[in-house]
Amino acid sequence: ASQEPDLVDIPAPKRHAGDVGVVVEHYNARPDVGIVQRLDSPIIGLKNFNNWVKSVLITRFGHPALQKSIVAGQLNGPGRPRMARGKVLDLGCGKGGDMTKWAKAHVKELLGADIAAVSIDQAKGRWSTLSQPRFDASFAAIDCYTQPISKAFPPAKLVQPFDVVSMQFCMHYAFETVQKARCMLENVSRYLRPGGVFIGTIPNAELLLENLDSIPPTSEELSFGNSVYKITFESRERPMFGHKYWFFLQDAVENVPEYVVHWDNFVQMAADYGLHLVYKEEFHQVFEEHQDHPEFKPLLVRMKVVDNEGASAMDEDQWEAANIYIAFAFEKR
Ligand code: SAM
Repeated sequence: ASQEPDLVDIPAPKRHAGDVGVVVEHYNARPDVGIVQRLDSPIIGLKNFNNWVKSVLITRFGHPALQKSIVAGQLNGPGRPRMARGKVLDLGCGKGGDMTKWAKAHVKELLGADIAAVSIDQAKGRWSTLSQPRFDASFAAIDCYTQPISKAFPPAKLVQPFDVVSMQFCMHYAFETVQKARCMLENVSRYLRPGGVFIGTIPNAELLLENLDSIPPTSEELSFGNSVYKITFESRERPMFGHKYWFFLQDAVENVPEYVVHWDNFVQMAADYGLHLVYKEEFHQVFEEHQDHPEFKPLLVRMKVVDNEGASAMDEDQWEAANIYIAFAFEKR
């Protein structure tokens, strides 16, 4: 791979209106603290766990050679072949936090897009300082929920289809409107090859709505949470799109507007784009399924989710907050 990322500078609009503006400013303003300062985070255990779940998802599903076993729902042991020099689209890539995971998956090429231009600059920086940039990379600042990605990347970059599209902790922002959700799905599916995989992590609608239902009718604030996170709904109504709540996560997300991804609706829409569900689990379940796996168990220790004695780096509140999320994988057919 070349040493310089293939930089595609599409000027992003300076300011975005409405909720999108709040989201962009929030992510643009969050400092890229680097690994050393990150260790000081009060929720470092939870952050490490989220990264472990993403590693599991990327290793298990972001691997074209595993297509057949994905459909069969099997797990492969260690020593199996790694991604055969695949091509990845990381939508909502942020500061490029998954770059090392993709390097370990032996990808050949990665295209990263995010609406937050500052984060994209940081992702470019992170790519260029990878100890061994083993893959080519292009990055673009673009609103992936209102614009086709062909506006951000030159046609030559899109000739060869993607093997994997990844959307980590970001797809729910598209569910503000049906148009945005459809634009997002079009971007996911358009350049994904048949047999290719779409992986992601989003908040669990079922859990959010159960918690909303259990708020007493007399309560003025439609909130729930613990010392680590707080979710505040706008109303008790349940629109399919634009079902808004504010999310607070200690040392990570400060009251950013987000939208419920009504799961069955999403799965049905995805089918319109040739995307079919092969995996969906809550994060606690991902842990249960993979904690004793010969590859992912040692990874729990290496990623400091548990210590050498097997003790968790998360307190109870972090562990509860971890299960707000689900991981999914779809296959393009
Ligand atoms: N995927 C990265 C990760 O796992 O570290 C970043 C996740 S961060 C919680 C959510 C990201 O979604 C932010 O970087 C934000 O800018 C991005 N995002 C939100 N709305 C977007 C949009 N319309 N188009 C592209 N990216 C968007």
